[in-house]
Amino acid sequence: MTESALNSLRAAKRIVIKIGSALVADGGRTRQGWLNSLATDIAALRASGQEIILVSSGAIALGRNHLGDERPRKLEEKQAAAALGQPLLMAAVSAAFGDHDVPVAQALLTLEDTENRRRWLNARATLETLLGAGAVPVINENDSVATDEIRYGDNDRLAARVAQMIGADALILLSDVDGLYSADPRVDADAEHILVIEELTGEHDDMAGDINQSANVGSGGMATKLAAARIAQAAGCMTVITRGTDMSPIEALLAGGKATWVLPSMTPEKARETWLRGHLTPEGTVRVDAGAVKALRSGASLLPVGVTGVKGQFARGAAVAIKDENGTLIGKGVTAYSSEDAARIAGLQTDAVEAQLGYRGRPALVHRDDLIIES
Ligand code: GLU
Repeated sequence: MTESALNSLRAAKRIVIKIGSALVADGGRTRQGWLNSLATDIAALRASGQEIILVSSGAIALGRNHLGDERPRKLEEKQAAAALGQPLLMAAVSAAFGDHDVPVAQALLTLEDTENRRRWLNARATLETLLGAGAVPVINENDSVATDEIRYGDNDRLAARVAQMIGADALILLSDVDGLYSADPRVDADAEHILVIEELTGEHDDMAGDINQSANVGSGGMATKLAAARIAQAAGCMTVITRGTDMSPIEALLAGGKATWVLPSMTPEKARETWLRGHLTPEGTVRVDAGAVKALRSGASLLPVGVTGVKGQFARGAAVAIKDENGTLIGKGVTAYSSEDAARIAGLQTDAVEAQLGYRGRPALVHRDDLIIES
């Protein structure tokens, strides 16, 4: 069973790897040797054509010494610690990748960037561009500006949202626990390790209870890992929960290391389509010509050149209905332009859009990943 899960991981096109604070920092110092070994693992995956996004915690753990010895408790103390620690974290990660020909990029996100559709379009386009350029994006929560309402608070969920946003096939959560147990293994000798989960249920949540693997660093426990796995599962992405404290953690996992595997119930493409079907309530209509209808049906994005008219008032990131010249519904999608701008660029070739709007927008009005076509 794990052999097939392992094979899917080996074949994954896009992988999000999340590393917990306890792996990155020890007593306020970076675990540079470990980070170096992780960078070697990731460089090997990249060399075999896999795209990797790293979600790294550790900013608060690395920055907090500069605020005094106490573990920061108040939000503003954590935010200040994160502001101090984030550059240390990036310096360590950059140094780790320095020996490999792999550029690293920093992206700091908040809850809003992955929940609000307009911002989500921006964040995704940036990550796609970085991946296309062969870089490893290194993501953390933008702790120093996030207030309680716009905060994830734990990077497990952030990593799952990122996986969903970019259509990753696998999410690897590296921490200091090697998976889910039927009970807390520290207190119950009969606790059994769970190898594979096909469907996450309340029973698994009960097992996770409030086991928090790191009382002193980081904020995620098993409960947040399962919450992350649930988001990923619904997005068609497999989740692997494993211990990553030793050197070369990804190599060890691929060699059959102990882990809990939460399997996806569908492909990321099918999951995205299901999500779009459930979430898109059109706020306006974009009318398109026969050429665009043909292109859309063969899987292309909707370009401004195919648009013949725009109806209704909508903002960038809104859902729109796409109709042909007879008013027949062709599909629905998320628009990268407001109704006003869409009307101004209707019928234009992509390279004429910038001159018309005065800014360089997205090449597509509706990207094919944000589109569902009626059959
Ligand atoms: N963003 C926090 C940090 O970098 C970590 C959040 C978490 O522990 O999941 O320190």
